[in-house]
Amino acid sequence: MRHTSSLIALVSAAVVSALPSPVHEARQVDCCALLQDALPDKVSYPGTSRFSQETDAYWSSTCSLAPNCYFTPDVTAEVATGVAILSANQCTFSVRAGGHHSSVGAAGNIGGVTIALTNFKQRDIDPVNNIASIGPGNRFHEVYTATDAYNKVGVLGRYAQVGTGLLLGAGLSYLNNPEGLSVDNVVAHEVVLANGTVVIASADSHPDLHKALKGGGNNFGIVTRYDIKIFDYPETVLGGLVTYGEAAMPYYDDLAYHYHVDAAVNDRLTHILPQWGFNGATGQRESFTPFLYLNNQPQLPPSLQPWVDVPWVHNTIRNTTDLAPLSFENHDGYFNGDAQQQRTITIFADRELFHEISERFHAFAQSWAHIEGFYALHCKMPITPFMVQKGIENGGNVLGLEGIEQTLSIQYFGVTAKNIEDSEALFAAHEEFVEGIRQTAQERGLLHRYIMWNYSAFNQPVIASYGEDNVQFLNDVSAAYDPNGVFRNFVTGQKVPL
Ligand SMILES: Cc1cc2nc3c(=O)[nH]c(=O)nc-3n(C[C@H](O)[C@H](O)[C@H](O)COP(=O)(O)OP(=O)(O)OC[C@H]3O[C@@H](n4cnc5c(N)ncnc54)[C@H](O)[C@@H]3O)c2cc1C
Repeated sequence: MRHTSSLIALVSAAVVSALPSPVHEARQVDCCALLQDALPDKVSYPGTSRFSQETDAYWSSTCSLAPNCYFTPDVTAEVATGVAILSANQCTFSVRAGGHHSSVGAAGNIGGVTIALTNFKQRDIDPVNNIASIGPGNRFHEVYTATDAYNKVGVLGRYAQVGTGLLLGAGLSYLNNPEGLSVDNVVAHEVVLANGTVVIASADSHPDLHKALKGGGNNFGIVTRYDIKIFDYPETVLGGLVTYGEAAMPYYDDLAYHYHVDAAVNDRLTHILPQWGFNGATGQRESFTPFLYLNNQPQLPPSLQPWVDVPWVHNTIRNTTDLAPLSFENHDGYFNGDAQQQRTITIFADRELFHEISERFHAFAQSWAHIEGFYALHCKMPITPFMVQKGIENGGNVLGLEGIEQTLSIQYFGVTAKNIEDSEALFAAHEEFVEGIRQTAQERGLLHRYIMWNYSAFNQPVIASYGEDNVQFLNDVSAAYDPNGVFRNFVTGQKVPL
């Protein structure tokens, strides 16, 4: 077990004020015992190896909280029985898939029940209809491995150990430029509703719920299966990771800007994840930039050539038949157990602002270099008008991005500390820093209201950022499928505002 009980206590002290109100309530009913009575062997308590295993499954130590028990169902019917019990008894609970959301309380709580979907490992590939049916307990490397066998790929996250919760937020992926966001490529959700009913939500069945789940997170039910579109890729693709050091940093923002407004728009087979990190231990910036070109050819196309014309340190771009190994390569270095906070804003791509943001975040990062294990990560990730159009063609989502005429940039800011004791001050300063950037972007008319759920912090108003009409729609769907408000009142995470 990674955490001693004293560390759990520390985590609790640091984050309890950040948790949504239901988790503070002392329950009169022993919800874990009720589950244990109905579903013996599916409930684990502190002190057991299963409990420790589930506690260690969170990426950020701030999210490894202390529920009274984990509930680990194996099949949809068990989720349904469990949810019906929890709803009827007004139990506080959380839902966890891969545990990679860094937002406190997104998938955990103190003193409640955490439903861990660890055992939902279904991976059925239908190569004729180009659909993969995947359980929420899969990590993306497992899905890539299953689809690689058919030379097909879904619109998935790029990092091996990240989980399927990504599919309820937005989803930045290797395939964004040609196919849009991940949420827009889910064709059906199997959902357990608050009263224990199981429904299929798709374009033909409960289409309102289907649409609400494309960005609405855990506000409506527990998804026990996703049917996602998969796409053919050529015999080999060109992919790998390019490592850069300080020598490339003067060029990096121009490259990122060019990718946003040119390559991602005009050469849709491209994918790059522009990012740089500041390593407190070395005092240097570095970048591990994932690349993919979805074409069978020996070298990078002209649209991506500028990225290898600047000084790089290491370059693994090669022809490959499989994408799973790329996801492992990307994930190297992203281990569980450090204290993490991510925050994000969205701006219109702008060369000058790109440079200014990098300079300011670099200066911020340097001022925290003394913290043990300090790391700061900054990414600039495009959402093009074509990606938004693909979403509309696929039935629409609730993100409120329609109508953009130029490329947006998801601006990601992450900070890491080894010790949870350092997180309180660091996270507060980080919040203040990102708010300063948000204000600058707003003053220059370059801010877009959208806050991407996947990279948000617990106190960012994610769903409000989708706009009034979408918030109203989500309230209507919540009232229709969860009239007692179980998922909005008793389940932790980002909630639909009233
Ligand atoms: C190293 C790393 C790499 C990343 N790479 C990418 C990337 O390439 N693209 C991208 O878009 N994002 C990426 N992300 C962000 C990622 O999308 C989010 O962290 C996402 O929440 C991860 O899903 P999860 O299942 O691991 O998280 P969890 O923390 O388990 O879940 C996140 C949220 O979803 C809810 N949830 C999960 N499953 C269900 C379900 N079946 N039913 C109902 N609610 C559910 C949970 O309650 C929780 O609120 C990355 C994050 C990290 C740390």
